[in-house]
Amino acid sequence: MNNTNSAEEIMDQFTRELFEDLFGPADEKISEIPKIPEKLALEIDALFTSTKDTERTGPVIDLFSRLKKIKKELNISPDAFGISKETLTLLAFKHQHLDEHGVTVGGRVNRALPIVEQANERVADYLKNKDTEAPSGIELWDRIQENVRRIKSILNIDDDEWSSYSGQLRHCIDSVEKLSNIIDLPSQIIEELTRATKSYRMRLTPYYASLIQPDRTNDPVLLQSVPTGEMVDNIGIEMPPVAADHSPARLIDQFYPRVLTIKATNMCAMYCTHCLRIAHIGKKDRIYSDSAYEDALNYIRNNTHIRDVLITGGDAFVLPNRMIKNILKALDDIDHIKMKRLGTRIPVTTPWRVDSELLEILEESNDKKPVRVVTQINTAQEITPISKNAFKRISKSVSAVLNQAVLLKGINDTKVKMWKLCETIQESYVRPYYIFNCSYRNPQFAHFRVPIEKGRDIVESMYGNISGDAIPRYIATAGGKIPLHRSNVVGHEGSDIVMKKPWSGEKVRYPDADPDEYANKNFSFAKN
Ligand SMILES: *Cc1c(COP(=O)(O)O)cnc(C)c1O
Ligand code: SF4
Repeated sequence: MNNTNSAEEIMDQFTRELFEDLFGPADEKISEIPKIPEKLALEIDALFTSTKDTERTGPVIDLFSRLKKIKKELNISPDAFGISKETLTLLAFKHQHLDEHGVTVGGRVNRALPIVEQANERVADYLKNKDTEAPSGIELWDRIQENVRRIKSILNIDDDEWSSYSGQLRHCIDSVEKLSNIIDLPSQIIEELTRATKSYRMRLTPYYASLIQPDRTNDPVLLQSVPTGEMVDNIGIEMPPVAADHSPARLIDQFYPRVLTIKATNMCAMYCTHCLRIAHIGKKDRIYSDSAYEDALNYIRNNTHIRDVLITGGDAFVLPNRMIKNILKALDDIDHIKMKRLGTRIPVTTPWRVDSELLEILEESNDKKPVRVVTQINTAQEITPISKNAFKRISKSVSAVLNQAVLLKGINDTKVKMWKLCETIQESYVRPYYIFNCSYRNPQFAHFRVPIEKGRDIVESMYGNISGDAIPRYIATAGGKIPLHRSNVVGHEGSDIVMKKPWSGEKVRYPDADPDEYANKNFSFAKN
């Protein structure tokens, strides 16, 4: 008896609360104690038996949770099942002592489990809708393979050509006729497309076209690759091409001291309908001269502030392996260059381009100084077993693969679509890096734009709900990348900061560092 008393004295607050829930007075709503149904008695008996002679805590937590629920809902306390307060107290203490981190039974039942339950509620609608609202190319794989069979037979592409970069480029879909042969398009869309392709070049690889779900109006892959009438109607007043005012040397864009881009080609395997560089890309393919590359590299050699070079385009993987190797080698030979990044969409548009020679080149350079590959995936639908495999292989050769998505109306502008994108790419060896608010600079795609705040709500909704490693930064490009996140510091109370948890709105006080101590107090060992 003494034993139990002293035990109760050191019972933590959560366990005391739990015992009040179990043995305290009933909720006012529940007046009479019902007779115990036999089934319930048997259930509790079984639960209780499973807690005996075991060092496992799971059954104990199950028993306490169930008893708590029964007391709350039916006003039947544990004694009614022949389980005394004393017995439960001993059980609670036994398991508190067993626990590696001293977690108490009350802590688990009354705190941890309700917190997890609340957390689960926050993702319930996502889990319910993710596979219908935003199916990945992996989930759609059977249907995509049907598309592949159809496209192969209509365009007369054999297996070897299909699974090769050159075959994919040779058969790329670059006319309205070809597109309407492989996808049944309504006549109104064909008219729009005919009008748009007079001003905009269309090109998609047969593989990328196979991701389009033909029975879906406004398929997100179709919208990214097939120009529409809006692009003609929205043209308005041409603005100067982005970064025309940020090019200190040929092929170079720079607005930061430590990092710049080399636009190493203007070619891409497909042309995106939302391309930021639309003024230079997708009009006419150009082969750049050696002197242009030399100018660019010399600028980098002569500017020792620069440490990180982003090789973009167009699409860096459109360059032949030999050229990629030469550029990386030239950069590796410059002492002040410590990092290289390559921008490419090819793993999602033409994954077969990622050949073993390219991987060796990347790996060799990565051994000298880190190489990162930066890609652009805007929907989970673009991740198939094939592109996932390409990313897996790339990720083994470089130090990281990062994704820069563009927030696009009708394509990825819902919470479910964006969460699904970020989770799917994370599972595909790619780290979500940026989400760009679609730029105002190109009136051609005003119809794709999403308000800043809407995007911010979508990105911020990820905090506390999906892996932190899958949460990108939300950015506006305006002569540099400007973060668009809202501050979670909402006020001050005395010397405390008041913060808001983005996932629950709950406010928490956070004592700030003492500004006086910070500014004036030196480390003891640094005195004198
Ligand atoms: C995007 C970009 C960079 C790289 O920016 P990070 O924030 O380092 O990824 C550098 N220079 C230019 C011109 C760019 O457009
Ligand atoms: S891959 Fe990049 S550069 Fe090429 S068209 Fe698409 S957005 Fe533009």
